[in-house]
Amino acid sequence: MTSAQPLDVEPTPLALLLLGRESDPASERGVDCPGDLPAPSDPDLVERARAAKEALGDRVFVLGHHYQRDEVIQFADVTGDSFKLARDAAARPEAEFIVFCGVHFMAESADILTGDDQRVILPDLAAGCSMADMATAEQVAEAWDVLTDAGVAGDTVPVSYMNSSADIKAFTGRHGGTICTSSNAKRALTWAFERAGDNGKVLFLPDQHLGRNTAVRELGLTLDDCVVYNPHRPNGGLTVEQLRAAKMILWRGHCSVHGRFSLESVREVRERVPGVNVLVHPECRHEVVAAADHVGSTEHIIATLDAAPEGSRWAVGTELNLVRRLANRYADQGKEIVFLDRTVCFCSTMNRIDLPHLVWSLESLAAGKVINRIEVDRETEHDAKLALERMLALP
Ligand code: SF4
Repeated sequence: MTSAQPLDVEPTPLALLLLGRESDPASERGVDCPGDLPAPSDPDLVERARAAKEALGDRVFVLGHHYQRDEVIQFADVTGDSFKLARDAAARPEAEFIVFCGVHFMAESADILTGDDQRVILPDLAAGCSMADMATAEQVAEAWDVLTDAGVAGDTVPVSYMNSSADIKAFTGRHGGTICTSSNAKRALTWAFERAGDNGKVLFLPDQHLGRNTAVRELGLTLDDCVVYNPHRPNGGLTVEQLRAAKMILWRGHCSVHGRFSLESVREVRERVPGVNVLVHPECRHEVVAAADHVGSTEHIIATLDAAPEGSRWAVGTELNLVRRLANRYADQGKEIVFLDRTVCFCSTMNRIDLPHLVWSLESLAAGKVINRIEVDRETEHDAKLALERMLALP
């Protein structure tokens, strides 16, 4: 037997931080959470959240995105997708504080659509969105220069998905474009092509899959009409000829949750669950959407399952918290609902909003301390609002 040798390893240069306590400014930009969070194991958390919410009364309005955990959703005054929630917040001007249980871009949209005296709180500032982060203001400004140099910017209308930062929404507003959701993407693209004219193009940001799926499935364009602009390559990895020939210029972004579903997931579930209906979100890859039986936004998925007949079987390709909640909700009605992929797939950033962070936010507000406020500067807000208002006016 040999004696134990010392391990030849360097100590990690990074301090390991407890989730939600302190921050490492080098790796977590914009995260500042020095708060004293309740321990997740604290059995009194539910009671503390209820008490803090009651103490705040009508001064607080809690929004819960469909992809949030059950422990958080139970305290939501309303649930919905990002756009519905931002509108719900705007319809509650008497609420001094909007606690947004969702991710960063959603809280920004709520701040843009609510009054100046309303404050929007994101319980954990590290709850971002990997898709929104795939298009930065600098990258998009550079892309517009590339389009300008290719002589196509004048014929191009930007359309940005709701899942984008306030900066990208503002860029869209400044360049005559609109925002879209997964529910109205077809109407937004139709409007944009009409506005762009005969040789017109759309620059679709930041989700290539929603852009491609809508253009090909709903507008009758071909895959060859679409090119993908890669912000990490010179000129987006495209030639001037490719840019001139394209109708859809898709930004190279995707959702890390919906992008996981594959053709193999669809094949596997059809074998595993005989007679199953495959229902997926349009953020999934084009081949997955093409192989599915039904495609639609989160709200469409919920409505479809609600209307489904007793005894029907469904495999759903969207975030797991929502699928699990729907499976439980409709089990009594004899509807069998399974997750499309066998591997667990939560949205990790959505999941950062947990009960300790919600309690911390509510108790701080009740004690008169505003934490984790999301505030969009006035100029960005003005330009982003132009794009959002164009969406609201879509025919
Ligand atoms: S599910 Fe996808 S698009 Fe939605 S917040 Fe998570 S990463 Fe972003």
